[in-house]
Amino acid sequence: MDTSNSCPGAQADLPSLRSHLPRSLPSSQSLNSITSPGVSTPGSWTVNPWHRDTPDTSPPTSGAASPQLKPDTSSDVHCVSPAEVSLEHSRGLGAVKSICFVGAGFVGGPTAAVIAYHNPNISVNVVDLNEQRIACWNSAHLPIHEDGLLRVVRVARDGTLGTTVALPGSSIDLQARQPNLIFSTNVIGTIEEADIVFICVNTPTKTQGLGAGSMADVSAVESATRTVAKHAKEGAIIVEKSTVPCGTARMIQDILRYYRPDTEFQVLSNPEFLAEGTAVENLMRPDRILIGSAQTLAGLQAAATLRDVYAAWVSTERIITVNTFSSELAKLIANTMLAQRISSINAVSAMCEEIGLGADVDDVSLAIGKDVRLGPKFLQAGVGFGGSCFEKDILNLAYLARELHLDVVADYWLAILRINEHQRQRFARNIVRELNGSLRGKKIAVLGFAFKDGTNDTRNSIAVHIIKSLAAEMPREIAIFDPGCASDEIIEEVEKVGLSSAQLEKIRICCSWRECVQEASATCILTQWKQFRGRQLGNSAAGAEKAAAGTTDNRFVNLKRGKGQIVDEMRILELEEIARQHQASESSSKEDPLGRLRPLKECPEGCGHCAVGLGGAHLEEAVDWVEVAAMMQEPRWVFDGRNVVNRLELEGLGFKVRGIGKGV
Ligand code: NAD
Repeated sequence: MDTSNSCPGAQADLPSLRSHLPRSLPSSQSLNSITSPGVSTPGSWTVNPWHRDTPDTSPPTSGAASPQLKPDTSSDVHCVSPAEVSLEHSRGLGAVKSICFVGAGFVGGPTAAVIAYHNPNISVNVVDLNEQRIACWNSAHLPIHEDGLLRVVRVARDGTLGTTVALPGSSIDLQARQPNLIFSTNVIGTIEEADIVFICVNTPTKTQGLGAGSMADVSAVESATRTVAKHAKEGAIIVEKSTVPCGTARMIQDILRYYRPDTEFQVLSNPEFLAEGTAVENLMRPDRILIGSAQTLAGLQAAATLRDVYAAWVSTERIITVNTFSSELAKLIANTMLAQRISSINAVSAMCEEIGLGADVDDVSLAIGKDVRLGPKFLQAGVGFGGSCFEKDILNLAYLARELHLDVVADYWLAILRINEHQRQRFARNIVRELNGSLRGKKIAVLGFAFKDGTNDTRNSIAVHIIKSLAAEMPREIAIFDPGCASDEIIEEVEKVGLSSAQLEKIRICCSWRECVQEASATCILTQWKQFRGRQLGNSAAGAEKAAAGTTDNRFVNLKRGKGQIVDEMRILELEEIARQHQASESSSKEDPLGRLRPLKECPEGCGHCAVGLGGAHLEEAVDWVEVAAMMQEPRWVFDGRNVVNRLELEGLGFKVRGIGKGV
């Protein structure tokens, strides 16, 4: 085959990296079957977990594969230590006038919004091939539901009004702000303008061909890179934001060199660590920003330029610069180790349930979490982890280990997924057992479909697998309610798991928890939405508000010490919080206590989002378990897959309750 005209990103053109590896690679057979014996194929963990708005993965014409590992052969490497390049060596923030994000998904949209929010002098353009998604970003109904996201987008996308805020004994002027966040489908035009281009496209697990079910599909990265390579302006910095296999920055560099042999581009790795559900908080106050670059003067200068962008709101001690491979690997390891903690505590939960004698996984978590070496986070037992990242990144890491002939290491990582699958199977099995081994004639209510609370992301939710197992028992009905997810997206995910038409007919999506639990024999809680805890439980929110109110005076003093004019968005946030506590509680002033936001554009007549009332108050309503007790049928089982309800209280109301890891 003549490959002389093909792009170096294509498999055939890449110099064979395998020859550089010390031992022979596994055969394609073993690459395809990366999972250990006893682990079901990843195809059964998730069937095309990708959001419907994203392009199909592994298109038949794609030769996409994870980039192969190869030694660094570039001759132009002049190594300098990172310490030699300080912030002053960056091009200076003034040099960055325009940033382009390619991919307006769960990562691209929020990340671009927060960067634009904190850098009012930089024009931040977010482009996507998906017109519908871009239309949503330009409307009142953002395609992604994250706490605080609409406010950040409104400030940066629409600009703000100038206003004067009266404080006791003084006042602060807030200047009007010009819009600097633009969402569009003009991919080429915005790439041409950009000083920095972030590649933020999807990298799902391959579903066909070599490495199907385990290898990351980087075809969208490849395709986006080709467009960038053809159109980026000279000297633009290309940032790999997507989570990718190690070596992808090299692949991007190869593609750039192929199309633009006379232009030097710097490629940086800048993986994103935000968690869905807390994306805005994570972006506003990140634990760290990781930037990987070539360890050359030009590479380190590019890293410093990107560091300046983040330094607009993140302290520089939190911005870590490393080499590109370490950065790519660190992202995969971070997700794998977070998932590992979940699987570890879920393994403990299985043991607690079998031991009986009152063994309680939450007690164990509390006890071990006090150890400062372990810490309390990610020790909450449940039905397991879902979502678009953990599973795919573990598979990706295990694939890499296999490729390096480290089978024992690969098996070690894959065991995390095996426990995860075991946990959800155990949960479904327990439901059937407690209901006398059969669900025929019974209605099962499912509260929660999203893989976690605070997000509308339905991709690869744990719920869909549990629903599949329950549907196999042919219950009278499986009713699903999730306060954050759109019904059509839930249906789409359920349809993907391969249920028969008879099973699909039993599934109904509900608009309220009341409709969902009505006449159910069992209610399963699969997402930890706060609404499911119940009305009569806890008053910690009131307590938190009181505690916050106690700090108000100090914060007033701090603000009054500041300049008369505030331009720093972090300080404006603080000011808003104070104003909110001093205002009457109408919802409009709560949202915009300083009267700074421009009114939202009216939706066109017949807007589908307005019609379904996404984000409506009825979705916020807490479950009233007293009411539920009257609505459900005997034996009124509650299977609490997230340990959110108060078991004793519910038992007092006549429920039978089974949580996770409760050895009763
Ligand atoms: P997503 O599917 O929500 O968004 C990707 C977007 O890229 C889609 O809207 C798609 O239309 C667009 N796209 C694809 N090819 C394109 C092209 N050539 N030009 C323009 N647009 C294109 O994915 P996501 O959840 O935002 O994830 C993106 C990357 O970030 C992935 O690698 C993922 O692993 C990583 N990541 C995700 C999360 C998360 O919580 N979702 C967190 C950290 C990292």
